[in-house]
Amino acid sequence: MITEEKKEEKSLNFIEEIIDADLQAGKYKEIITRFPPEPNGYLHIGHASSICLNFGLTKTFQGYTNLRFDDTNPTTEDTEYVESIKNDIRWMGFEWKNELYASDYFDTLYEYAKTLIRKDLAYVDDSTSEEIATLKGTPTEPGKDSPYRSRSIEENLSLFEQMKNGDFPDGSRTLRAKIDMAHLNMLMRDPILYRIKHAHHHRTGDAWCIYPMYDFAHGQSDSIENVTHSICTLEFVPHRELYDWLIDKLEIYPSHQYEFARRNLNYTITSKRKLLQLVQEGHVNGWDDPRMPTISGLRRRGYTPESIRDFCDRIGVARRENMIDVGLLEFCVREDLNKKALRRMVVLDPLKVVITNFPEEISEICHSENNPEDIAAGMREIPLTREIYIEKEDFMETPSKKYFRLAPGKMVRLKGAYIIQCDDFVKAENGEITEVHCSFIENSKSGQDATGINVKGTLHWVSAAHAVPVEIRLYDRLFSVEDPTSGEGDFKDYINPDSLHVITGYAEPALIEATTGESFQFLRKGYFALDQDSAPDKLVFNRTVTLRDNWAKAGEK
Ligand code: ATP
Ligand code: MG
Repeated sequence: MITEEKKEEKSLNFIEEIIDADLQAGKYKEIITRFPPEPNGYLHIGHASSICLNFGLTKTFQGYTNLRFDDTNPTTEDTEYVESIKNDIRWMGFEWKNELYASDYFDTLYEYAKTLIRKDLAYVDDSTSEEIATLKGTPTEPGKDSPYRSRSIEENLSLFEQMKNGDFPDGSRTLRAKIDMAHLNMLMRDPILYRIKHAHHHRTGDAWCIYPMYDFAHGQSDSIENVTHSICTLEFVPHRELYDWLIDKLEIYPSHQYEFARRNLNYTITSKRKLLQLVQEGHVNGWDDPRMPTISGLRRRGYTPESIRDFCDRIGVARRENMIDVGLLEFCVREDLNKKALRRMVVLDPLKVVITNFPEEISEICHSENNPEDIAAGMREIPLTREIYIEKEDFMETPSKKYFRLAPGKMVRLKGAYIIQCDDFVKAENGEITEVHCSFIENSKSGQDATGINVKGTLHWVSAAHAVPVEIRLYDRLFSVEDPTSGEGDFKDYINPDSLHVITGYAEPALIEATTGESFQFLRKGYFALDQDSAPDKLVFNRTVTLRDNWAKAGEK
């Protein structure tokens, strides 16, 4: 039960309220939830919501969560997906109590089916899928009974056994519940419980050639595991009646289903089937491409588990579907990385600056904080030499009034080092500025500045002699419209053709020590994480997110 103080800290979402009330009423000793992925793809940000909800509930209310693979569809499932799902849940910071598979219950489910047949609540139907569809009726018209509906219990038992033994080809027969062909809920019009599929299963191999349908596996698995609160997304609301009917007729543990709204993000696809298309057709480089909304893609991009959990927490649990701004996810990772990421200087588009009064062939050690948000992170050394690089955009020949960066006659501070003043510049025939000449101001070094000069701009820079060329992958949104599935045509028509730019940046030498996955703030440029493609002589960084929300700004203009 949740204490009064806890309630005041944070208001409960509607599912927490239900559980709280159930506990107050003494309905359960322990809360059991499950996270039930089908191992037919990698987990995405929508699943993250479901994970945080299911595991979060049992953390709040004391209980446990099972990981259950809903693997009743042999043709789309694979062990590769099982491994990735386990890895992603652990990375998110959650631990399941039991690792379970719906396929482990195939024997039990087969027995359950026979129980229904014996109660004259299920029958073998020889109709084709077209015939079944025709007899189903419509939401406004009742369906009609199948000609096979009145078979005897003995005949049904024998035919069902033959189905199991592989005596019939795929699609030739099904096992259906005998409910009501005129039921207002179409799903209650004699739903199919088992189908014949001579297919290899990733765990049971060729042991079975009949497989239970979702509706005859999910609730039963919940019940076998004594799941108290079975939480799923809203599209399963009409299935609840069948969920309850089957549990009732089988007289098994009464798990209950609760539904919340699927979480959708703008500019993002959250459907495994569609994400699989992006992978298979080569629109991205695999499930963990940093542009993918998969947990593995986000991880590679530089997202932290804390930032994803924070995001899921902020969007909470809703009863109605709505579209969440992907900007919120980006906000969450900025918040987290701002606290944690070490600061480094990397010039993405270099312009050479010669400090003419600085001695040649000498490097002077400067110091700068690793993270101003975390004093314990300490300081690092940065070498300064006569020739350095700054960003091209940090110099303007004829600056506007509000330009506080470098310009003829103007002063700026080099981060962690001296104030410099621009004396001169070199312009090529094509009008491009190729070199800027400056002089540094004596006694102006950061931390020991005795000049009293006040400059408005501080630039990041790297010593030309020490600069380490690194590959930088600049990512943008994978889709150029808010909802790629709502428009005309295929969602892939809305892929942003500019979602990846690869450039060479020039990094300060401290970055050589970066390890895979480590995140940095490149000063004034954004957050970047070292990619797994890196080699000792070639570092590759993924841009996780810019420092500010450029999209929101573009929208305001
Ligand atoms: P997809 O459409 O991507 O294939 P799914 O629902 O078929 O998703 P499952 O593997 O069955 O994928 O999902 C496991 C759990 O995650 C389910 O309980 C499902 O309801 C939940 N889930 C899936 N997508 C979302 C989402 N976008 N928001 C919230 N929960 C989700
Ligand atoms: Mg599903």
